[in-house]
Amino acid sequence: MAAEIIDGKLIANEIREELKKEVLDLKSSGITPGLGVILVGDDPASRSYVTAKERACDNLGLYSENVKLPVETTEEELLKLVDTMNNNPKIDGILVQLPLPKHIDTDKVIMAINPDKDVDGFHPQSIGKMIMGKETFLPCTPHGIIKLLLRSNVKVEGANVVVVGRSNIVGKPVANLLLDKSEGGNATVTICHSRTKNMADITKNADILIAAIGKAEFITGDMIKDGAVVIDVGVNRVEDSSRKKGYRLVGDVKYSEAAEKASKITPVPGGVGPMTITMLMYNTVYSAKNR
Ligand code: NAP
Repeated sequence: MAAEIIDGKLIANEIREELKKEVLDLKSSGITPGLGVILVGDDPASRSYVTAKERACDNLGLYSENVKLPVETTEEELLKLVDTMNNNPKIDGILVQLPLPKHIDTDKVIMAINPDKDVDGFHPQSIGKMIMGKETFLPCTPHGIIKLLLRSNVKVEGANVVVVGRSNIVGKPVANLLLDKSEGGNATVTICHSRTKNMADITKNADILIAAIGKAEFITGDMIKDGAVVIDVGVNRVEDSSRKKGYRLVGDVKYSEAAEKASKITPVPGGVGPMTITMLMYNTVYSAKNR
């Protein structure tokens, strides 16, 4: 069986078109949603993510302030900038691009963001509310995964879902959203990680398999049940001298094998990735509505 491709770009574009209308409505009542983006250092992947976020803001007609700071920026200087953005009425959402340089305490910076502007959904207040099923900013990648499933008509309720990975930004929150008593939730969820024993025995039972590991092509065809839905969150660079850049991007799933087993699958790139930035825009517009 050849799997149907879940086209993240297409679904992300649909949501962005819906957001455009909401932005126009907000603007007609005098509110332009605004996003503040802070990048510390010059990590190439972070720089390209920040550029994509700036571009997304421009395309949607959002106001954005983008501050690029040198790698030697002190924690105090960064906290001061976060505070300035907290108090800037034109800014509805603040995003500090991670990872931060080692000399800066990431948790301290996340906690300094006003929870009302926490569009990344990483503040403990947002996470606590999410776990309690209360309305709040949902973290962008996990929220994007739920939207992908819903808009691809995948039945999540009652499904046996296996999430591989337990990070605070992907694995744990997506497992929690899948468990939630809401649309896109009500699944039976199992989380695997690096200490899980006999992982293939667990993944082979998954109706929906979500891979957020950070290891190129780790999930092979023999770990997947026939007809499963496979969501590949991983973004890994592998050397490829035939490409101009010298590398290509692959997911955490061995696509060629998985596509033979799955009923639906996300590609890398073009699956989960476009949804992450779209959900950031969604959160910024949501925040502006609550301004
Ligand atoms: P992370 O913080 O490094 O977490 C990786 C998780 O995978 C950990 O829980 C780890 O287990 C688990 N793991 C590692 N090796 C394993 C193994 N051999 N068997 C089973 N589990 C294993 O990574 P992350 O931030 O969640 O990101 C995961 C991937 O998604 C990365 O490729 C990242 O680039 C990508 N990503 C993509 C997007 C997007 O928008 N497309 C957004 C975020 C992340 P332990 O906890 O036991 O160490």
